[in-house]
Amino acid sequence: MTKHHTTSYYAASANDTRQRPALEGHETADVCVIGAGFTGLSSALHLAEKGYRVRVLEASRIGFGASGRNGGQIVHSYSRDLDFIEQHYGMDTANAMGQMAFEGGRIIRDFVQRHDIRCDLKDGGIFAACTGKQLQALESKKSLWERHGHDRLELLDAGGIRARVGSQRYVGGLIDHSGGHFHPLNLVLGEAAALESLGGVIYEDSAVERVQEGDKVRLFTARGSVTADFVVVAGNAYLGGLIPQLAQKSMPCGTQVITTEPLSPEMQRALLPQDNCVEDCNYLLDYFRLSGDGRLIYGGGVTYGARDPGRVEALIRPNMLKTFPQLRDVKVDFAWTGNFLLTLMRLPQFGRIGRNIYYAQGYSGHGIASSHLAGRLIGDAIGGQAERFDVFAGLPQYTFPGGRLFRVPLTAMGAWFYSLRDRFGV
Ligand SMILES: Cc1cc2nc3c(=O)[nH]c(=O)nc-3n(C[C@H](O)[C@H](O)[C@H](O)COP(=O)(O)OP(=O)(O)OC[C@H]3O[C@@H](n4cnc5c(N)ncnc54)[C@H](O)[C@@H]3O)c2cc1C
Repeated sequence: MTKHHTTSYYAASANDTRQRPALEGHETADVCVIGAGFTGLSSALHLAEKGYRVRVLEASRIGFGASGRNGGQIVHSYSRDLDFIEQHYGMDTANAMGQMAFEGGRIIRDFVQRHDIRCDLKDGGIFAACTGKQLQALESKKSLWERHGHDRLELLDAGGIRARVGSQRYVGGLIDHSGGHFHPLNLVLGEAAALESLGGVIYEDSAVERVQEGDKVRLFTARGSVTADFVVVAGNAYLGGLIPQLAQKSMPCGTQVITTEPLSPEMQRALLPQDNCVEDCNYLLDYFRLSGDGRLIYGGGVTYGARDPGRVEALIRPNMLKTFPQLRDVKVDFAWTGNFLLTLMRLPQFGRIGRNIYYAQGYSGHGIASSHLAGRLIGDAIGGQAERFDVFAGLPQYTFPGGRLFRVPLTAMGAWFYSLRDRFGV
């Protein structure tokens, strides 16, 4: 059966449209990965580079999940920052996580360079402050990240941000010169091709329906099975109920993105003269950037169940016009929604089930860099060096209160509360 990506700009501009075959019959592997997003493919690539025989089972298409449809912004550290980690889990954990907080971006650049992946990668990510209080928080973030050894940061005053973002909404900002942006579906497709060049095999349209634990793990799809020494679970927000103990401690959240028609070179320069990507500092944040062909990609909001592109445009276009009223007459060509996975503490969940099933999930909205880091740490742990993986695996993981039915309304209320905080600046 032909499976399709979502209605995104990325799917319409993918470099590689080949569909891989579905799994038929029985196979064996050293490692079998569930899910071909950044977590799954970073794990698979790191393992293949170490010489492991790797198979990847993808329910739909490579990059079908969040990895092929996100904002494309490399944001360092974690959804909860290192000061929170220090307060809750102590200095040693904060220092260990601090040493890894800027590694994901380096892994991405390394993959792009070594495997020659064409994905419009550009440098420079801006955190934009809408209020004086947010600007103060950015000053603290700069000192915090610098204490953990990150030195590529520059504060922007009102004039500085205006030189980089053509909007009246911001009072200042912080630029991370080692942040940046790229075409996420083309990155994930490039990673898939790199894996295949190392002998890895990816099956599409091959949803894992059952996991049989044991000395070796056996995974069953509709028409086949794989027996492997190790399994990596990388289904994140799209995993559903396959592994109930992972579903209980996380919650999928929908977020929406629109993409305009290509803008004139003058308009591109007026909006984002340095071609940086931007996210604001609100809890329900807006994020935007230019695509490789000069469109504005604008995302924001967390809305449940908005799947129809017309409804997505109706939700996000007003936000875009609030930031850039000059786009009033510009047409929106693409609109889509995607799911990220929220955890109660907004920190990622890494761990093992039994001895030989590894998982990483729940990056809570900022997962591009962390999912690449997760893949490296899983590769190291399976290879026998688990110290860094175990720093994450040692963090407590909580069940969401209220059970499956109540989780969406509870978090929707949380989102509403935070949007009031954003509005009134408290
Ligand atoms: C709209 C949107 C914008 C975002 N913007 C940013 C951003 O700008 N910066 C940032 O840092 N983060 C962003 N994120 C978050 C980031 O995209 C994710 O954290 C990250 O891509 C997660 O990668 P993953 O590989 O863990 O999961 P996914 O990319 O979701 O991949 C999971 C894969 O597993 C497959 N799968 C699930 N179940 C099974 C099964 N049973 N059998 C086989 N396969 C299965 C799915 O089909 C899917 O392809 C955004 C997320 C969204 C939705």
